[in-house]
Amino acid sequence: MYVSKNPFTGIVDKEFPIITNGELIQALEQSHQSFLNWQKSSFTVRVKLLLKMADLLEERKEFYGRIISNEMGKPITQSEGEVEKCAWVCRYYSEKGIELLNSRDVESSASLSRVVFEPLGTVLAVMPWNFPFWQVFRFAAPAVMTGNAVLLKHASNVPQCALAIEQLFKDSGAPEGVFQNLFIDYAQVEQVIASALVKGVTFTGSNQAGSYIASLAGKYIKKSVLELGGSDPFIIFDDADLFQALQEALLSRFLNAGQSCIAAKRFIVHENISVEFLTNFQSLVENLTKGNPLDHGTFIGPLVSEKALHELEDLVQTSISMGAKCAIGGEVCEYMRTVYEPTILYDVPMESPVWTEEVFGPVASVRFFETDEEAITLANDTRFGLGASVWTKDPEKAEWACRQLQAGMVVVNGMLKSEPGLPFGGINESGYGRELGNFGLYEFVNIKTVSYF
Ligand code: NAP
Repeated sequence: MYVSKNPFTGIVDKEFPIITNGELIQALEQSHQSFLNWQKSSFTVRVKLLLKMADLLEERKEFYGRIISNEMGKPITQSEGEVEKCAWVCRYYSEKGIELLNSRDVESSASLSRVVFEPLGTVLAVMPWNFPFWQVFRFAAPAVMTGNAVLLKHASNVPQCALAIEQLFKDSGAPEGVFQNLFIDYAQVEQVIASALVKGVTFTGSNQAGSYIASLAGKYIKKSVLELGGSDPFIIFDDADLFQALQEALLSRFLNAGQSCIAAKRFIVHENISVEFLTNFQSLVENLTKGNPLDHGTFIGPLVSEKALHELEDLVQTSISMGAKCAIGGEVCEYMRTVYEPTILYDVPMESPVWTEEVFGPVASVRFFETDEEAITLANDTRFGLGASVWTKDPEKAEWACRQLQAGMVVVNGMLKSEPGLPFGGINESGYGRELGNFGLYEFVNIKTVSYF
């Protein structure tokens, strides 16, 4: 069952049953038929679709924002920002898509060699709830631009987001079946990946589920991309602009109540600035406004579910019992039981779960370092490898740190954000493959080499 339940109020709005296997087979066939036509469409038609989607997303920003906030609890201003970003990615691929997909000649021993980019067919997207619009669009925009058809299996707690996105494609003029939402269960996910009509799967979500999806992709020999969790370091050297670093640290850790894969999760701060950092970070956190996600003044909303709340409580309590010190927070909000207090833990032991696990909630973990090498060792002390942020005014140190950090993305003097033109993805247990930019577009494309002798 797909259940739309408001995480702030606990009220169930709607429920949607799992589709039957017969309906699934029909959807697969429809997707394939749509692909056969869509792949023949001109670039002009696809660009027109993307531009129309961008217009509608902007026009309906408030409407979609409310659906997001009601289903997964994101504060409304952040939900509307997410919708605007989806318009941005549609416009980006409408501008860059043709140039990226045009065939190009390459030198070879033949009289003429050329690389052409062709769509693969139907691709399944298994998506998470934390950015329920953005995660879908950042895959779907380049996918439809290349001529692929998309099947969406969204997280079961955001069914109204899934339906709204499907409707948006229709309203923008997408031919029937080019983008279809499927309310399917896990066994049916395997059926989809196994189908000869499906050519690939892109997965965004947890490591456990990602590992399972990747095993299915391997079993049925399907192209796959995995965008998984992270425990990104945020390193502040003692020559950094601390004021700026603190503003960005706050946003990076506490946006979306900390439920972001690229949130800064581990703060690694030079001991010379430890007191200044901690005091100022604490007073910034104290001033964060908690409350109903539909209020425009709210910055911290509820966690997505009671289960997530209890898991977070456990992680924090275990870490405190192992020696982590709590500067602020450390518990569920007394007067709003679905909200977790924004928390700062410092001197956290390296074996404690807030350091070793991905903390999906408003909890910042801090450790102090003495030497530059120690900072890098701490930052790389993780099984993940999504992003990292480095703060220093010394360009040489910044360059050195960028090269030492084991991550898919590094930002100097800024917080990590995704944007349409920048390839996005991780290494190690953060997954493989890329989304966005040119590399994202080529993931589900047949890069066909043609030679004439
Ligand atoms: P999740 O539990 O792994 O769920 C993600 C999706 O996978 C959902 O649609 C879920 O469906 C489905 N799923 C889970 N187990 C499955 C199985 N055995 N077979 C088939 N489908 C399965 O992750 P989440 O809790 O929604 O999302 C949070 C995680 O996503 C965090 O780890 C976060 O870091 C990661 N994330 C990564 C990125 C990135 O770009 N690297 C971006 C955003 C989020 P149901 O809802 O029906 O269970």
